[in-house]
Amino acid sequence: MDINKALKEEHIYEAGTFDVAVIGAGHAGCEAAHAAAQLGLKTVLFTLHLDAVANLPCNPSVGGTAKGQLVREIDALGGIMGKVADRCAIQMRMLNRSKGPAVFSPRAQMDRADYSVVMKELLENTPNLTLRQAHIKDILTENGAVAGVKTEAGGIYRAKAIVLSSGTYMEARTIRGEVIVESGPDGLPRSEGLSSCLKEEGIPLLRFKTGTPVRVNSRSVDFSAMEIQNGEDDIPPFSFDEEMKGYKVMPVSDQIPCHSIWTTEETRQVIKDNMDRSPLYSGVITGTGPRYCPSIEDKFMRFADKERHLIFVEPMGRRTNELYLQGFSTSLPEEVQEKMVRSLPGLKDAVIQRSAYAIEYDLIDPTSLKLSLESKILSGLFSAGQVNGSSGYEEAAGQGIIAGINAAMKVLGKDPVIIYRADGYIGVLIDDLVTKGTNEPYRMMTSRAEYRLFLRQDNADRRLTPIGYKAGLVDEERYNRFCEKLKMIEDETARLGSTYVAPSDELASYLEPLGQTPPKSGVSLAELIKRPGVTYEGLKIIDKDREELPDYVTKSVEVDLKYEGYLALEMAKIEKFRQLESKALPSDIDYDDVKGLRIEARQKLSKMRPENIGRASRISGVSPADCEVLLVYLEALRRKNNE
Ligand SMILES: Cc1cc2nc3c(=O)[nH]c(=O)nc-3n(C[C@H](O)[C@H](O)[C@H](O)COP(=O)(O)OP(=O)(O)OC[C@H]3O[C@@H](n4cnc5c(N)ncnc54)[C@H](O)[C@@H]3O)c2cc1C
Repeated sequence: MDINKALKEEHIYEAGTFDVAVIGAGHAGCEAAHAAAQLGLKTVLFTLHLDAVANLPCNPSVGGTAKGQLVREIDALGGIMGKVADRCAIQMRMLNRSKGPAVFSPRAQMDRADYSVVMKELLENTPNLTLRQAHIKDILTENGAVAGVKTEAGGIYRAKAIVLSSGTYMEARTIRGEVIVESGPDGLPRSEGLSSCLKEEGIPLLRFKTGTPVRVNSRSVDFSAMEIQNGEDDIPPFSFDEEMKGYKVMPVSDQIPCHSIWTTEETRQVIKDNMDRSPLYSGVITGTGPRYCPSIEDKFMRFADKERHLIFVEPMGRRTNELYLQGFSTSLPEEVQEKMVRSLPGLKDAVIQRSAYAIEYDLIDPTSLKLSLESKILSGLFSAGQVNGSSGYEEAAGQGIIAGINAAMKVLGKDPVIIYRADGYIGVLIDDLVTKGTNEPYRMMTSRAEYRLFLRQDNADRRLTPIGYKAGLVDEERYNRFCEKLKMIEDETARLGSTYVAPSDELASYLEPLGQTPPKSGVSLAELIKRPGVTYEGLKIIDKDREELPDYVTKSVEVDLKYEGYLALEMAKIEKFRQLESKALPSDIDYDDVKGLRIEARQKLSKMRPENIGRASRISGVSPADCEVLLVYLEALRRKNNE
């Protein structure tokens, strides 16, 4: 709505003028608001409920496969999720250990209540940032650009840029069997009005669904019927900066274990007997759900050959008995949920404290966004998180920090910060969403990252901290610590490469048990480390003069050396990728004028208007042959312009 028209409405008042307004204090909004405020912009952060800042409405954990990489990247850029997660972790693990450091993924169980309190406290103490509980009903515009927001109470907040991160709230409804309630998650109010205002601006919307399982009271559970899963403490914290300051993950003895169980034949039968009441299969649910996070009834239907399914019983905090049944989300009626839960090992007397439900919500079609996460349709409107079609706290926060930085860059009149697929999982996430779009909640996975050998969790700071520093989000003091770390890694790598050891009994006694043949002549320590099974730690016996270095240095040195050959191949692929990304496509190109392009490619390119050849090549329906045609066309254009 035009701001001048809004100002004429009844019960309206000027509530303040800001540089950036962020709608939603979920995982995306918290990062966006923190980033904009840290960059010196006067920022206001709105939420429907201040006691639900950074709420974890689903699994009370941060990180996991590919998500752990995202958290470390957010931290490397100067974000806050990693720091808050380290402070609120009740169990830590490094996933994918058997698959090698390229896909190591840190994951931590969170104290859900603490996470919200610690995040709110951090934001309340962030200079330039105002938190405000208010229901944003309308995004106001002036001359085709954003100008502010209007609240339910009639407050007009002026802003030069807006970040929409409304998550799973827009026109949301929760579904349990036949019972449908117009509500946000966890019984919180839903967001009303924004969907119609976005539609009026011509912004395309989609409707997705997701779901969550029951929570039960641990006093009513028999853990002896379950498999225990303890945490680990030989892993780094999420935050690089805290790690460099000496922060250590808590010892396993202070961590709270998780447990695992399998569904039973009775579980299958209960679900089978009640499938007619499943809103998923009765058509009540119209929103598209996440393929990689299916409900339990969906698992039994889609994987009928599988007799049973694994469920994780996860603690939700230190001062609560609530347990979360990971992998058991459902939207079947409550009385059926009771029977389903009671069919599980150790839960026959379980007391359900929160029932499971599905939630449907409106979101923006992410192909209407630029790589900066600014809308192609409404200038100054940025969006991040679940409202862009992703699913997951980490995916939301990864977009949030970029949207926040770029909203600030917009106000400051600076170029946006773009993270490319070769820079990080954040780049893969955003590029997939805005270039390919998504027809279901998009969950990050390592298989989505073609350069995953380079995009490891341990080197996220080496890839992204310089970008965060250049943007102004990483301060001098932290950057200096980072540079010291880099220097230590470079020096130690060089020392290992130039330190030769002669064959010796000690070396032989270390190598032979690893199935490694002892060398017959002098060999560098670096060459030795590249051998399977050989570790930096293990070589201590023959490398006695080494200086004591922090784990975060030696671990990186070891991985770099072990992957040296593969990394060189990967860097060559990345160089080719960057070359294609640098081949800009004019924004006003008439694709109908490009001879040799296939019709489908013409249509897709005209709709998506990719900025460069690299992005054009990732649009479904644009073939490598079409890209060759475009390259020839660009070359002819270049020659013509040089005449
Ligand atoms: C039931 C459920 C199950 C889920 N299951 C999974 C899962 O299995 N796996 C997974 O990865 N993720 C799951 N998620 C998703 C996960 O919760 C989200 O991905 C994540 O919370 C998204 O973060 P966000 O910042 O985009 O939005 P949210 O965390 O949803 O936060 C949105 C914020 O916007 C505010 N807001 C919205 N509208 C307005 C308005 N008009 N005015 C003011 N404030 C507004 C809200 O108050 C809130 O602060 C689930 C979510 C729900 C609700």
